[in-house]
Amino acid sequence: MPTDNLSDLVEKLKRQLQYFQSLGVEGLNIPWERHRVAPANQKRELFHQLQQEVARCQRCSLCLTRKTPVLGEGDVNAQLMFIGEAPGYWEDVKGRPFVGKAGQKLTDIIRAMGLSRQEVYITNIVKCRPPNNRDPKTEEIESCRNYLLQQINIIEPKVICALGTFSAQSLLNSSLPISQLRGKFWDYHGIKLMATFHPAFLLRNPYKKGETWEDMKKIKAYLQQES
Ligand code: URA
Repeated sequence: MPTDNLSDLVEKLKRQLQYFQSLGVEGLNIPWERHRVAPANQKRELFHQLQQEVARCQRCSLCLTRKTPVLGEGDVNAQLMFIGEAPGYWEDVKGRPFVGKAGQKLTDIIRAMGLSRQEVYITNIVKCRPPNNRDPKTEEIESCRNYLLQQINIIEPKVICALGTFSAQSLLNSSLPISQLRGKFWDYHGIKLMATFHPAFLLRNPYKKGETWEDMKKIKAYLQQES
């Protein structure tokens, strides 16, 4: 068998095992590696395929109650990726992330950073709305994890901003409160990760805006230094 075919096969097998691991199969212990999955001009096509996969996804019971799965939106070459929790009522209706009141707050934050929604990428840990906006369950997060990993691999952002306790704790595999996770960069498989307060929390606790802005300034400074 030619060597390149063999290395292709090994790569496919590794991805397949990583996928099973992401679904919760134990004992595989394969480190998740970031890999360049595609040159820039193929990213849109990969996202298109992912969108179709998510549209017919039945990996967990959220498919029984959702109206529209919400993969995410924005620039597929974005340097900054925001990751929230899960779609809410309006996101489920419109099939777009962060379009309700919390979404307006996030849009304001992005604008205050001198960016637009089109220049960043916005998604959630879980792609379908949990009934009555309850917290997603562990099995729902695990079912969706592979979609998120694929998104990160395609986009290859320089910075991930985890919005809120739930997103930060899931990504960092931590049970620390957001007050302890925010404010500093963490390493997420070689990508800088900043956790900050969820925009919905800011709507209820506007006095936390200052700390959020401190977090955003750190992201801006890092992106400027990198460009
Ligand atoms: N809250 C989230 O975490 N995500 C959304 O898309 C909307 C609200």
